[in-house]
Amino acid sequence: MTYTILIVEDEKKIAEVVRDYLIKDGYQVELTDRGETAVELVRRGGIDLILLDLMLPGMSGEAACKRIRGMSSVPIVMMTAKTSEADRIAGLSIGADDYILKPFSPRELVARVKAVLRRTSEHEPLADQVFLPSGVVLDDKAKQIFKKETDVFATPTEYKLLSVLARHPRRTFSRTELVERVLGYDYEGDERVIDTHIKNLRRKIEDDPKNPQIVVSVYGHGYRLGG
Ligand code: CA
Repeated sequence: MTYTILIVEDEKKIAEVVRDYLIKDGYQVELTDRGETAVELVRRGGIDLILLDLMLPGMSGEAACKRIRGMSSVPIVMMTAKTSEADRIAGLSIGADDYILKPFSPRELVARVKAVLRRTSEHEPLADQVFLPSGVVLDDKAKQIFKKETDVFATPTEYKLLSVLARHPRRTFSRTELVERVLGYDYEGDERVIDTHIKNLRRKIEDDPKNPQIVVSVYGHGYRLGG
């Protein structure tokens, strides 16, 4: 799988050097100098990681980070020139996954990108068994979901849904992201089909499907793992 990295940087020289290094390393790259455009591109989907400059014309990197986090769990690496800003990014926990201080060597940046992708990738193996509320166990070896030791007969789509959420327990996924990760990037049907899968999954695993504790709705944003 080829990852697409979005670079949001208004210093053209830096942006182009970083782009060239990433392309040489086999990544696809999109480039913009505006936070507003970055938010739009993430909404459109298909971005796997964002390199986000803090000081941008118009919407600041910090504001863009918050906006993006409101609708997406895409990994974000902030690029900043000042240690004090780096402290602020870390301290405020605005939702960035990592930050890198300017000036950085492109090689260091590529290494950081790789590390973040590895950490956040859904291709990484889960624990063999993930224990969830209400006696639900996601068994990654058997690719089955058990509730109180009984197979709930989850469909492959339902299994995949729960495993995507379980890999990122603190993250909220938008409908678009779940569609991409569960049904595939080339899926072109109605996104609301994901709601149907969630409804069916809840019926199989929740104690009270009307008051879900495992697959939780986050109003206006999407879904996350409860518990
Ligand atoms: Ca800048």
